Amino acid sequence: MFYAISACLAGENCKYSGGNNRNEAIVSLCESRPCVLICPERTGGLKTPRAPAEIIGGTGEDVLAGQAKVMDSEGRDRTEAFMKGALLSLAQVWEAAGDETEICAVLKAKSPSCGSGLIYDGTFSGTKIPGNGVTAALFKREGIRVLTEEEFVPPVD
Ligand code: SF4
Repeated sequence: MFYAISACLAGENCKYSGGNNRNEAIVSLCESRPCVLICPERTGGLKTPRAPAEIIGGTGEDVLAGQAKVMDSEGRDRTEAFMKGALLSLAQVWEAAGDETEICAVLKAKSPSCGSGLIYDGTFSGTKIPGNGVTAALFKREGIRVLTEEEFVPPVD
């Protein structure tokens, strides 16, 4: 199994605030299994720190379909950066995985890029709705299993 991991979960300071979401189980996973760290927002060209962003008018699938946007809290349209980051991150995972066809992504819950199953609703009020972030939606569409750090159970062998 090859793992694609949200870099902020592994302790990289790429979170919008400039900090990280270090998770010890994820750090252990990175130390013991083949993996690649991804940060779609950084890869898409956004700086850290940056204003938080949310999907407006839909979910990550809708953004991929051109039917919803990603806006930051200061009113800037970040859709292009999120799309670019998702596509480049997918390419990064495929390249790093090489011949390994079993890929599992463990991505940060509720992020407009990495969130899986639940995201914020675009009102910057903390309200959550069912849906995926842009990168998580793309990965799922491409057949990659996506888990949040909350769903992840460390492998035993
Ligand atoms: Fe980067 Fe995803 Fe973490 Fe956001 S949630 S900082 S896009 S890795």
